[in-house]
Amino acid sequence: MKKAWHEARQNLAGGVDSPVRAFKAVGGTPVFMRQGRGPYLYDVNSGRFIDFCLSWGALLFGHADGQTVKAIQHQASLGTSFGTATEHETALAQEIKKAFPGMERIRFTSSGTEAVMSAIRLARGVTNKNRVVKFEGGYHGHADSLLVKAGSGLATFGSPSSRGIPPSLAELTTVLEYNNTEEARRFLRRRGDIACVILEPIAGNMGVIPAHQDFLQALRKETARQGSLLIFDEVISGFRVGYGGAQHLYGIEPDLTILGKIIGGGLPVGAFGGKRRWMDALSPNGKVYQAGTLSGNPLAMAAGLSVLKRLSKDFYKRLNQKSVAFFQEARFVLKKQGEEAVINAAGSMFTIFFSKKAPTHFNEIPVSHHKKFKTFFHKMLECHVYLPPSGFEACFLSTAHGEKELKTTLKALGARSPLKR
Ligand code: PMP
Repeated sequence: MKKAWHEARQNLAGGVDSPVRAFKAVGGTPVFMRQGRGPYLYDVNSGRFIDFCLSWGALLFGHADGQTVKAIQHQASLGTSFGTATEHETALAQEIKKAFPGMERIRFTSSGTEAVMSAIRLARGVTNKNRVVKFEGGYHGHADSLLVKAGSGLATFGSPSSRGIPPSLAELTTVLEYNNTEEARRFLRRRGDIACVILEPIAGNMGVIPAHQDFLQALRKETARQGSLLIFDEVISGFRVGYGGAQHLYGIEPDLTILGKIIGGGLPVGAFGGKRRWMDALSPNGKVYQAGTLSGNPLAMAAGLSVLKRLSKDFYKRLNQKSVAFFQEARFVLKKQGEEAVINAAGSMFTIFFSKKAPTHFNEIPVSHHKKFKTFFHKMLECHVYLPPSGFEACFLSTAHGEKELKTTLKALGARSPLKR
């Protein structure tokens, strides 16, 4: 592993193509994976790990799922990219619309970042306003307008959270506190320059933290009153927490929805969509430009279609029931170990927070959680359980995680106190 890591660093910037893979948050050498099968990942030394990262939530049926692989193989034999209109795009859009009826028109991209970036341009284009409101701890990809942190004091103009972002652009983003209904209401009522409010309705990027119903309701009401668009970033929660995503669970329809991950069956994909009156502003119908050589790529569409065709309310009922039972047992094991830990969950996504109480926003996550998570992560890795390598992430279950794998995981949790060496 050390050799692979050494060589990667000689050739790739920082040794990785996405920073979290470098294990900076947990320390140690990243594990290089070679193969995935069902609930398992196999490293380059043939070590086998039960995977709870699942390509950051993309793999609802686990690794190398038979039907997905077959669909990809079939499509590959017909051609991998045409750069033309295809029927696959329409077919996948139709499947998405069955679950997300508010997405009357859809545009596919090749990543979640691209979809968010394009949705923000669209929101600015149709509202003629410039300000973007987001929430602390939310992640919406690495576009300039979103890599912004709260300025001095919340409800002020944001400042860049990465070098290379012009402060004059970051100033157009405001970062508020997640689940703080009063603050959001006050801010939205005070200003007339807001193009959109974007958030994960069930946050996955500060660990799993679901929004409060009244918070989302207030955002819906105030954005409508202001003539701003409400954007739900469901890149993680869409097709993960249930059929129809978080918006169906809460019964709140945003103006625009962002999807990714699961809808591409593990291939690169993103999508945004919403009411026709907004989406018609996109080029070629309208004046907001957006494009992509590989957008709606036939391989990604085929893989996505093979997944979405199998989904239904019943499918999620089964997956979520299995997940709830697992979380209950995990809570019991952690309690027996005397750990101060809570499990925040939504459907088949969850985070173990080493915290006295369940956090409801970013600043409620204790600093000590990360220190503990680091030890916990390596302990679980020793037991051949692979978790996302950061305490700010969500873990995921798939249909491929059977009783055997879940029992082994509980055993690893309970073997010794995972936090005490
Ligand atoms: N939005 C959310 C909620 C995400 O979790 C992510 C990525 N994890 C993105 C957007 C960006 O997607 P991508 O990494 O495909 O660009």
